[in-house]
Formats: sequence, C-alpha cells, structure tokens
Amino acid sequence: MRSKYMIVGSSHAALEAATAIRLIDADGTLTLLTRDAHLPYSPTILPYVVSGRSQPDNVVLRDQAYFNDNAIVFVPGATVVSIDPAQSSLRLASGDTWRYDRLLIATGAAPMLPPVRGLTDVPFHVLRSLDDAINLRQAMGQARSAIVLGAGLIGMHTAENMAKADIAVTVVELQSHALAGYFEPRASAIIERTFARNGISMLMGQTLRSVERKGDGCLATLADGQTIAADLLLLCTGVKPNIGFLNGSGIEVDTGILVDDLMRTNLPNIWAAGDVAQARGFWGGKVINGILPNAVGQGRIAGLGMADDAGVTPFAGVVPLNTYSFFGQQAISVGRGSTGSGFEIEECGNEADGVYRHIVLKDGQLVGIATINDFIDAGIMWQLILRGTDLSPVKAEFIANPQLTGRRLMSQTWR
Ligand SMILES: Cc1cc2nc3c(=O)[nH]c(=O)nc-3n(C[C@H](O)[C@H](O)[C@H](O)COP(=O)(O)OP(=O)(O)OC[C@H]3O[C@@H](n4cnc5c(N)ncnc54)[C@H](O)[C@@H]3O)c2cc1C
Repeated sequence: MRSKYMIVGSSHAALEAATAIRLIDADGTLTLLTRDAHLPYSPTILPYVVSGRSQPDNVVLRDQAYFNDNAIVFVPGATVVSIDPAQSSLRLASGDTWRYDRLLIATGAAPMLPPVRGLTDVPFHVLRSLDDAINLRQAMGQARSAIVLGAGLIGMHTAENMAKADIAVTVVELQSHALAGYFEPRASAIIERTFARNGISMLMGQTLRSVERKGDGCLATLADGQTIAADLLLLCTGVKPNIGFLNGSGIEVDTGILVDDLMRTNLPNIWAAGDVAQARGFWGGKVINGILPNAVGQGRIAGLGMADDAGVTPFAGVVPLNTYSFFGQQAISVGRGSTGSGFEIEECGNEADGVYRHIVLKDGQLVGIATINDFIDAGIMWQLILRGTDLSPVKAEFIANPQLTGRRLMSQTWR
C-alpha cells in the first residue's frame, strides 16, 4: 500500500496538516494512520467525558463523511511500530507495510508513569485517550475513594470531577504547590483552599513511595510514611512524546523529535508536529509545548510544507496560554514566570476573597500574566507578548488595569 502523503496520528496536529495539504493538493493520495480505535477527537474534551457532560459518541472532530468528501483514507487501529526512511516505508503492528512519499509524524504524547514501587501490581488509570476516559468514568461509578497523583491541569480537573461524583479524593503532588507549571504559590494557594473547602485532601510536597493491592483498590504509602487506602488510583504525572517506534530510523530525537522552523526533521520527506515535536521555543531553545494551539500551528506548517506551498510562514514559537475553571471560579495563565534576573514582578489581589494577579515584565515587555478570579482577555495578553509590545509608556496604567490598558493598546495596533 502506498500514499503520497502519509500522516501518523489523528489528533490536532494530524488533522490540521491534512486540511492544509488539501488546500494545496486536492488529489494526491492522503492517508491517516492512527492507533486509536475511534474517529478523531480532542484530548481536551476528555475531562468532560469523565464528568459525563459529554458523551463519547458525541466528541468527534471529523466524521467518516469528512474523510470521504476529502478523499482521505482514515485507518483506525493502525499502530506504527517502525519506520524505514531508506525504503520510505513504515510497518504496522498488524504486520502491514505502507510506503509514502512524504511522511508526517504527529503521534503526540503518552502518560509518563512515575517510579512508584509496586505500581505494576495494582490497578491504576491514566487520562490521555477516549478509552482512558471511558474506563475512568466507569471505574468512578464503583469508587468511593481515590488518589490522584499529580496536581497539574489534568489531575486537578479530574479530582474536581471525582469530588462532584461524591468520591473522597486525595491529591498528592511532589511540588510544593498545585499547578506549579502555571501559577505562583500565592495563586495556587487560592486554588488549593477552594479544593480543600470542597472536601478534597490536598497533600503538596508529597509523593507515593509504594503501592500495594488492597481488595479491588490499593493501599498507598507516602514518602513521609503515612498510608492511604483508595478504591481508585489516577496517575497524572506528566507526559512523554511517543517516539519509541523511531528507534533505529535515523530520525534525530532529543526529548521529542527535533524539527526546524518548517517542522522538517533531519531526514528528507519526513516532518513532525504537535506534542511529539521539539521545535523553536518562543524564548529560545528547542522545546516541547504540549498545548493545543501549538499542535494546530505546527500541523498547519507541516501540511503546507508537505504540499510544497511556497508561502508557508516559519514557526516562531508558541506562547503558553491556559484557562482553567475550578468549582465555578476562573484562573488564567499566559506566558511564563520569571526565570532569572532582570524580571520585574508585580503582584496584587485579595487572597481572602480569592482574587489574585501576577504580572511579569522584562525590558518593558510583558512576558507573563496569571490571574485568579480577575478577568483578563487571555487572547489580548497573548498578543501583547507575541508582538513584544513596549509597555514602558503605560506601565503604571497596565499594572493597575491590564485588561483595559491591553484592550486599548491592541485596538491601536491590531492589524
Ligand atoms: C485530558 C487532557 C486535557 C487537555 N486540555 C488542554 C487544554 O485545555 N488546552 C490545551 O491547549 N491543551 C490541552 N491538552 C493538551 C492537548 O490535548 C495536546 O496538546 C494536543 O492534543 C496535542 O495534539 P497532537 O496531535 O500533537 O497529539 P495527540 O493529541 O497526543 O495525538 C496523538 C495521535 O497519535 C496517535 N498515535 C500515537 N502513537 C501512534 C503510533 N505508534 N501509531 C499510530 N498512531 C499513533 C494517537 O492515537 C493520536 O491519534 C489536554 C490534554 C489532555 C490529555
């Protein structure tokens, strides 16, 4: 079997690339191979599948009619196990071989399992695929207690869903505060307090030393020696790019697949995009930025390049942007925190009322802003950072009211 354009993966980067290819080339054979058994869906919807707000059969990003109408061969249940660039071919777990002219690797990332003694002997859950979400929802129906290991966005979202389903939840986090990748300790404290008020036990600066089986669940021993029994164990301790099948292919990898600004790997006719790709960071270096807008932007660049579009704009790096709702409250994080000298930090808020704002500036430019229950238009802050807008002339005004000042600045400069 052969395809001019071959895409491995069926999520955001893959679908965006397929769309871009079809913009330029309506006829070239185009195939999407994915190990997932389902029609494409967004992982971002999974917390809502877990909570029951979305039904699994109602979350598809593209249906079979779309693939038929766009002459795209969609092959679910197709796990790629190796790539042979010299032969321009790849092999599936089924033993089938496909040949390609141009290949995009958009295999994303998979949950990273922590080094906890006894983990392989107990039942546990992760949340990355639709099947994971379906399994977790089913398990929640039988569970009265749960441990969530990891207080990142996925862990916190799911802990909230579990608490709302009347499950007694303990969140265990190695870092000193929750959502450490997005918020400073003072901001996280507001979120942690809200979780505690809603009956969730928040154990920060802690980790699991070991787990053992107890009935249908587990007994966990923490690093400080205390033990917790739980019917359900959910691991949310980060992700790692799906690159194992590239061993021996000659495709250059670091943490992820190394790509240039056009999403090209070191080998001809092979591109990579999304959570699997290590690309230009907005502030330098080569980074993996595991968020949806990154996957979409990179997928588009890769697809246009694969179809020989001469006008493709090189990747400039992506500024992180996350909005997070918890128990009816709102947290927003755009850009990054201070990472060394030369940063100016402005904090304000009333933690008793659950309101907080943290602004990071450098050389008169905004590099990050995070707020809790203090509405800012994340898109405007994102643009101010992306454009390197000079805030020096309006600094005091911006710090006092970033929303109004940001809006005014953007209305003057938007093009
Ligand atoms: C629960 C959850 C919530 C999230 N919420 C947000 C959010 O609110 N905002 C945000 O910006 N981001 C969020 N993210 C991150 C976002 O979903 C990812 O950044 C995005 O999905 C990355 O897209 P991707 O196409 O690179 O890879 P993925 O979405 O990881 O998809 C990878 C694809 O490759 C396939 N695949 C993998 N290995 C193989 C193989 N060997 N052979 C064949 N196919 C393979 C998979 O089946 C899948 O189709 C969330 C992620 C999760 C898990």
